[in-house]
Amino acid sequence: MNLKTPISELYMVGPIYAKRLAKLNINTVEDLLFHFPFRYDDFSLISKIGRVQPGETVTIIGEVVSFKNEYTKNGKKLQKARARDDTKEIEIIWFNQTFLANVIRVGETFAFSGKVDWFGRNISMVAPDYEQIRKPIPNSHYLLSIHTARLVPVYPETYGVSSKWLRSRIAPLLFNNQIEFKDYLPEKIIKDNNLIDLETALKQIHFPDNLMMAEKARKRLAFDELFLIQLSVLKRKLEWQKTVVSHKFSLNQEKILDFTSKLPFTLTNAQNRCIKEILGDLEKTQPMNRLLEGDVGSGKTVVAALAIYVSYLNGFQSVLMAPTEILANQHFQTLKQLLSPFGLQIELVTGSSKLKTESRKQKADVFVGTHALIQKGIEFEKLGLVIIDEQHRFGVAQRGLLVKKGKSPHVLTMTATPIPRTIALTIYGDLDLSIIDELPVGRQKVKTWVVPKLKREPAYKWIKERVKDTSEQAFIVCPLIEESETLTTVKSVKAEYEKLSQKIFPDLKLGLLHGKLKSKEKDEVIGRFREGSLDILVSTPVVEVGIDIPQATIMLIEASDRFGLAGLHQLRGRVGRGQKQSYCLLFTEIDTGKPFERLKSMEINHIGSELAEIDLKMRGPGEVYGKSQHGFVDLKLASFTDYDLIKETKEAAQSIVQDLKPYPMLQEILEEKKKKEIIEAN
Ligand code: ADP
Ligand code: MG
Repeated sequence: MNLKTPISELYMVGPIYAKRLAKLNINTVEDLLFHFPFRYDDFSLISKIGRVQPGETVTIIGEVVSFKNEYTKNGKKLQKARARDDTKEIEIIWFNQTFLANVIRVGETFAFSGKVDWFGRNISMVAPDYEQIRKPIPNSHYLLSIHTARLVPVYPETYGVSSKWLRSRIAPLLFNNQIEFKDYLPEKIIKDNNLIDLETALKQIHFPDNLMMAEKARKRLAFDELFLIQLSVLKRKLEWQKTVVSHKFSLNQEKILDFTSKLPFTLTNAQNRCIKEILGDLEKTQPMNRLLEGDVGSGKTVVAALAIYVSYLNGFQSVLMAPTEILANQHFQTLKQLLSPFGLQIELVTGSSKLKTESRKQKADVFVGTHALIQKGIEFEKLGLVIIDEQHRFGVAQRGLLVKKGKSPHVLTMTATPIPRTIALTIYGDLDLSIIDELPVGRQKVKTWVVPKLKREPAYKWIKERVKDTSEQAFIVCPLIEESETLTTVKSVKAEYEKLSQKIFPDLKLGLLHGKLKSKEKDEVIGRFREGSLDILVSTPVVEVGIDIPQATIMLIEASDRFGLAGLHQLRGRVGRGQKQSYCLLFTEIDTGKPFERLKSMEINHIGSELAEIDLKMRGPGEVYGKSQHGFVDLKLASFTDYDLIKETKEAAQSIVQDLKPYPMLQEILEEKKKKEIIEAN
């Protein structure tokens, strides 16, 4: 048996339990050992029976002297045992556990852990945990107890899999000496960071000697989580740095100036800075690998357009990949406007668009599209620049597939999802970062209100007054009911649309937009909204990434407490794009507590990365960025807010990444990770 052994082959597991365990993402022995407790019941206080006090939680160890099932007058079943040690006897009581008659055998020694209390006129133990204590076997590594008389681990459970069950399967794996726990961390890193070894850490996190050891175990295993991320990111960076572009770009300053001077606006300082950083990269022999981060509306597209222009001037093609068709369409329109005056040919590649002809495809200078760009097996003649928008929606491997279509092309990724600094340091540690931290002039802060149930009606009335027979328009966004945009979600947004158009806004013109519409239908709805023949667009969060409609001034978000703050901030960024004052209304059923405070922070905070930081602290990365998004490994023990540990692990990874040959186990782990990512991408 080893760590990779499938869980179903384990003694006392079998196919039924294997199926249940799969719900906890436990498929192998390793998964089981890395299923960590989230707390411990402290049953470590062992007391003589003669000493116990009502009200305290203790463990007693004694011989069972009697056991009986009793039936009370109102039909309840009561189990009564008596146990004794060399000081005294005590009564122990359970409710409705008749099977205990076969477990708590008279004459055997048991540990009982739980609360001591008055039961009638007697001091009794009420419904304690119990465990038979066998005589210690000389030289055995077995723990004497795992359910009682110690710090007892409590695990995330699932139907049919209790903590007790988990303990009794995990303990033998750890203490039977059947598995060899080879430590994959280099000796020096263990020493320098004051860590305990892997085997001790695993034993101590499940069955700690004391809280200090539990904490040491947690620290070691948390270190591993971040360290492995850091190492794979740094390795990727190193490999990237070794690549060389097939053809060095040169910058034609005159043409670049001509391009910027013909824009209908003046670039912001932040845009200029980012452009400078990007142009600097494009001049190098090593391909660019940069992340351009900026709130919605900060003007990333024009920055990308300039990079595309430079690629074109050097005789190279560019591709821009976006996560949705709407967004790809929009980029296509924008880039056409910006770039065709300079002679560039631009082609749209989405699931529903057809490439016109093979020959045309070869000729275009820019391809804008969705992941259809990867799937359609398109070959590019001379791909020099790859741009990926909303890059966190694609996996590392997916990005890799697109990049491989060129000979080490430059890569620019873009995101409007605010990234907390600590996450930028870990997951994106291989990317250079440019931030557009300034909105174009004239943009106004979107006034934001959290709207509790009571104010719902007045809010509807207020919206009606603003949008009826005016040029103003409103978005109403409904949340996803399930993780992705399933039929359930579509059904609920349709129902909301019916309700709004018949009962609440009967005299207004409403449109409905969701991901299950055909792309032609989507275009039509958006088109009608854009030209102003709709007052209100009811939608799922598909508008989050995309739609640019300057005259829309109101963003109403239903059940806003279901969204992450970063997501809300992005939705809010859909309005406030024109000159008029814009508003964001956050509808919610809750009106107290932390979740309410969290929403309230939207009213005063307008900085995306800060909002993301708040969410990260309150809800963890999975919640902030959505479980379906790639790259955001849900950490089990470590936290992306633990700046110190992030720093330590980064330094540790840096100290060995140059040469991993001495550490074959680490190399193997990294290979496995990579494979997993590729499987995910396909
Ligand atoms: P992002 O992709 O960062 O969300 P866009 O690139 O779509 O933002 O730009 C949003 C809008 O702002 C577009 O209509 C664009 O033409 C406009 N814009 C971009 N830069 C500027 C600027 N410096 N001044 C004024 N408007 C700008
Ligand atoms: Mg954009």
